[in-house]
Amino acid sequence: MNDLTTLAAALGGSLRGSRVLVRADLNVPLDGARITDDGRIRASLPTLRTLADQGARVVVVAHLGRPGGAPDPAYSLAPVAARLGELLGADVAFATDTVGESARATVDALEDGQIAVLENVRFEAGETSKDDAERGAFADRLAALADAFVSDGFGVVHRKQASVYDVAQRLPHAMGALVSAEIDVLRRLTGSPERPYAVVLGGSKVSDKLGVIDNLLGTADRLLIGGGMVFTFLAAQGHEVGKSLLEQDQLETCRGYLAQAREAGVEILLPTDVVVDTAFPNGEREPEPRVVAADGIPADALGLDIGPESAAAFADALADARTVFWNGPMGVFEVDAFAEGTRAVAGALIEVDGLSVVGGGDSAAAVRRLGFADADFGHISTGGGASLEYLEGKQLPGIAVLED
Ligand code: ADP
Ligand code: MG
Repeated sequence: MNDLTTLAAALGGSLRGSRVLVRADLNVPLDGARITDDGRIRASLPTLRTLADQGARVVVVAHLGRPGGAPDPAYSLAPVAARLGELLGADVAFATDTVGESARATVDALEDGQIAVLENVRFEAGETSKDDAERGAFADRLAALADAFVSDGFGVVHRKQASVYDVAQRLPHAMGALVSAEIDVLRRLTGSPERPYAVVLGGSKVSDKLGVIDNLLGTADRLLIGGGMVFTFLAAQGHEVGKSLLEQDQLETCRGYLAQAREAGVEILLPTDVVVDTAFPNGEREPEPRVVAADGIPADALGLDIGPESAAAFADALADARTVFWNGPMGVFEVDAFAEGTRAVAGALIEVDGLSVVGGGDSAAAVRRLGFADADFGHISTGGGASLEYLEGKQLPGIAVLED
């Protein structure tokens, strides 16, 4: 594997004075121009610091949101660059375009050990183009800004995009500390995880997580299911789910998983009680949470969290686990009335004697919102999609390309 030491060797022994393009994941949640969770910026710091300390001229390329291939001030990385500067305690330069005049001038002005951030890479249509030539042409322009490339945006390594994949083919490259730590953890989860190995899945939709459920039924000992996806499982068992999130077209698939789990001896835990309300919380009306049996959801209600009995049972099922992977909140944790199931799972995870991994943007935001410290967990992944695809057994283009 190419790391920073082999990269320095490839550049003549040292990174000093070299322009190093770093693909980072700085895709933080924003409320206007206010960053509501700077976890991803913090996670990017170690690699940026290491490169700057070694005297590299660091050029950060990243995306924010989905501006759709054209400049949109609402998605400018300027506030992110400012926050990065605060966290580093150093001046961070900002280019108002990605590969244009401002980018060239900003990179040219960098001194050894200085850091610059380029404007949102998704302001350029070439970044996410499905057309290899178009993506390649954009990657050429990015590569022209640097002497080497470091891939450290774990949240995007499953994407075949110019700043993730194509640019690595054009420059000497290495894996950054963040990507390398993520891959290490994923290898531990897929290699020979210490048992019992429990997986907790939640979040909004089953259809997002079908591939991973499929694969985990072959490796995990226990599968705990909550969140919005659980109602499709409950419905698959023949229960009434009222107005809860339900993916009608996945009922057969869920039935299949339940049968497959029985055959493989994988224990599937579904909630026995749920917290319901008569409407999705919209901030306008005070929530009126009610606990009902999972097989007795009233027709006019929708499930928004796992109930207290289930939360205790889930915590119990995690107590003796030696490896836990958790993706997806147990309920609509954004609203206090529906956050207790997620809190119980997070609380159980931090007690795990072994490896506990939290994957998924909303799951990571949930544990922080609920007041848990990152350090309480074995690992909080910065890339939900990438972790899931890895656990599905897929090859990640942004990782494969680094191995050449
Ligand atoms: P992650 O980003 O961790 O992978 P997801 O994006 O799959 O997680 O899902 C997170 C979202 O799921 C949260 O916004 C949460 O409010 C929502 N959610 C959880 N439980 C329910 C539910 N019962 N009904 C509707 N949405 C839910
Ligand atoms: Mg999400």
